[in-house]
Amino acid sequence: MKIIEPQREIKVLDEAEVIVVGGGPAGIGAALGSARTGAKTILIDRFGSLGGLQTQGLNGIFSFVDPELHSGIVHEIVGRLKDAKAVLSNDEIPAWTRSPIKDRFMQMLGPDKLPKRMVDTESGWWGRWGYCFDPEYYKYMLDGMMEEAGVKLLFHSFAAGAIREDNFLKGVLVEGKEGRRAVLGKVIIDTTGTGDIIWKSGAPCDEGIPAGEKKGSKSGYLSCFMIGGVDQAKFDAFRAANPEDWPGMYGAAGILAKAKAAGENIRVEKIVVTQHWDMYRDGKIWIMTLLHGAEEACWSTKDLTAGEIGMRKQAVTLHKVLKQSVHGFENSYIDRFSQYAVWGNPHRLIGEHVLTYNDMRAGRIFEDGIAISNMPPDVYEVAGRFAYDILPHDIPYRSLVSKEVENLMAAGSIISNGAFSAAAIRYCTPTICTGQAAGTGAAMAVKNNVTPKNLDAKIVQDALRKQGARVSVKDVSPEALAPYQFIQKLNIAERRTDEMIITEEEIGMY
Ligand SMILES: Cc1cc2nc3c(=O)[nH]c(=O)nc-3n(C[C@H](O)[C@H](O)[C@H](O)COP(=O)(O)OP(=O)(O)OC[C@H]3O[C@@H](n4cnc5c(N)ncnc54)[C@H](O)[C@@H]3O)c2cc1C
Repeated sequence: MKIIEPQREIKVLDEAEVIVVGGGPAGIGAALGSARTGAKTILIDRFGSLGGLQTQGLNGIFSFVDPELHSGIVHEIVGRLKDAKAVLSNDEIPAWTRSPIKDRFMQMLGPDKLPKRMVDTESGWWGRWGYCFDPEYYKYMLDGMMEEAGVKLLFHSFAAGAIREDNFLKGVLVEGKEGRRAVLGKVIIDTTGTGDIIWKSGAPCDEGIPAGEKKGSKSGYLSCFMIGGVDQAKFDAFRAANPEDWPGMYGAAGILAKAKAAGENIRVEKIVVTQHWDMYRDGKIWIMTLLHGAEEACWSTKDLTAGEIGMRKQAVTLHKVLKQSVHGFENSYIDRFSQYAVWGNPHRLIGEHVLTYNDMRAGRIFEDGIAISNMPPDVYEVAGRFAYDILPHDIPYRSLVSKEVENLMAAGSIISNGAFSAAAIRYCTPTICTGQAAGTGAAMAVKNNVTPKNLDAKIVQDALRKQGARVSVKDVSPEALAPYQFIQKLNIAERRTDEMIITEEEIGMY
């Protein structure tokens, strides 16, 4: 059924040179990159604070920040969080939540056989998994950073549509307290994490798992929740006494299997149970459940609603089981549900280059590289494995700009990349780096009076370098790359199952 909406005049709420839609890590990088490059910038979000999944989604982390590869805004933000003592220091992270790679190979081969950088540092895959921070402080800190940079914030504004004329966007339509309003701009950057503007503008976009038995599937969503009131010491002792059920971050397989056999509706085989986020040591445990609802889509209101309700039901069931079976959880309670989940397969931009997993495996360098990613694609849910089989690689400028809509850009997982490579780019570090590059590119396009599509990528690279960002693997020293090359050769993979429902060749193509 359809109805006809009467024609109406829409008031213009605001105007800027660059409009960034979505205030998660991609939008944070984009807004700061744009404003610091001199463009009048507006950042829009549907919620009342910044951070996206890092705050509303209870995922306060930057993973695999490597100072030899990422020296832009992500590095600055981690530094500011450290200065404010709002980030867990390396010593405070429980040993079992660190990457086991370095310790394993130190024991097996000895330090003489490992690359020097791997022995000497804790960056990258061989060291800490990430910097976990206090999300409430982060929200406050980001407000200040935006103010400092001159970014205008528009909160409580849901971007409901794009204003398109031919192959250009004039702005976006937002729904807020005042009703529908227009925000006009010269360049629009989609940082919604789900490609809302790409999709709503009618620009070419990509979605769905393109290969294997799961072809056409949406790959579902991943969520987490926080438990409070856990007796950490008792829980640590319980873990130590039951190593088969708690081998690392993923655990509780035996407990969950037993509960399932007893009739509980448990939708996962294992869960991540970690103290990473227990910033102030007051008994907080973060639980991450694996992907749910592989056929559900993040652009369907009904799927989203069912997903959120299902997520809370599952969290309550898991908590009940943990409370009954795990020492230390006796007096625990659910502290917080996440506000929304990460969706495995959002609408993604189609640009002049589609970044693939094969590009990542080859550690590809592009002439128009604007950021480096070292994140391995997390295709655990779809293909059943998470492998350290990529090398640090460039992300090309062409992957940030729509090939059809000349002033539409994207950052984060929704850049022009495939379904599997997006499972790497969605992580917070590449997300914020692509954001910084998109924002800087947008501002340089405005300055040079061209569309982002017609902007020479060298201009963006120069501007990014001036901001201290690294844009290409070709600028990285062989010593800094050596641990990654070493680990790639070892072919380390965590497997859920040996039955691959998508082949390695198919994964590589997207
Ligand atoms: C359980 C879980 C575990 C994770 N683990 C890790 C990890 O260990 N390491 C890691 O690096 N990453 C991890 N991630 C992933 C990471 O948090 C996200 O991929 C990342 O936050 C994506 O950034 P983004 O800016 O693209 O999108 P988001 O963080 O989703 O931000 C998008 C923003 O856009 C806004 N928005 C969306 N649509 C609209 C609209 N129409 N109008 C206005 N505003 C809109 C949202 O409110 C939000 O603020 C995890 C995520 C989850 C949920």
